Amino acid sequence: MPWTACVLTLFPEMFPGMLGHSLVGRGLEEGRWTLDTIQIRDFAQDKHNTVDDTPCGGGAGMVMRPDVVTGGLDEAAKRYPLAKKVFLTPRGRPLTQEKVHELAEAPGVILLCGRYEGIDQRVLDEHDDIEEISIGDYVLSGGESAATVLLDACVRLLPGVIGKEASHEDESFEAGLLEYPHYTRPRVWRGREVPEVLLSGHHEKILSWRKTQAQRITQERRPDLWERYCKEIKGSA
Ligand code: SAM
Repeated sequence: MPWTACVLTLFPEMFPGMLGHSLVGRGLEEGRWTLDTIQIRDFAQDKHNTVDDTPCGGGAGMVMRPDVVTGGLDEAAKRYPLAKKVFLTPRGRPLTQEKVHELAEAPGVILLCGRYEGIDQRVLDEHDDIEEISIGDYVLSGGESAATVLLDACVRLLPGVIGKEASHEDESFEAGLLEYPHYTRPRVWRGREVPEVLLSGHHEKILSWRKTQAQRITQERRPDLWERYCKEIKGSA
């Protein structure tokens, strides 16, 4: 069974979008994963197909109605009973590579994309198996771009999507560090040389140089990751 993605959205025409291209798109064509969309508006209860209403208590913007959103969620769960349910929201826990692995190892995901000010809280209270995930500390106009980011990150981990599976191992976050810098030909470009060690052919020295670079970059740019990495190293010593 391929990994399944089901996106609940008011804009199904936004998919596959970017996900139809390059390695992830080829994976879709080859059936390594499947993509389904559900139009939330199809579950509207009135003749105007209304999906939102004004916020109780006042304030700007509109809120997606619980009856309409739940109609879509129930349909998605019927189609994909084993998939993990995710609501994309800036209020969610941050998406990490660890979470991406967890979702990619599940049978699939159901992704609920909000619009307007978001969805009625009672949907989340009612469905306690929905995980709230944020792709970063900024506010997007809708959950579709966040869903695209999450799917791209998951799909590239699926078997066969990226040719050489070993290519994940050194990537940023996989071993708790950011990745070391890369170089290719030409050997000298605008007076800048490729570090000598990378041309030495000495495998161990190259590994050691890369590790030192990864540690330096992580320490400089992400003190939070560096602290965790140092704790893990100490813990395993
Ligand atoms: N009023 C909400 C708040 O302040 O938290 C923001 C709503 S936003 C305009 C509309 C939708 O975009 C959200 O319901 C969510 O689905 C999506 N969204 C916006 N920023 C996001 C983020 N950083 N991560 C994931 N989804 C996001």
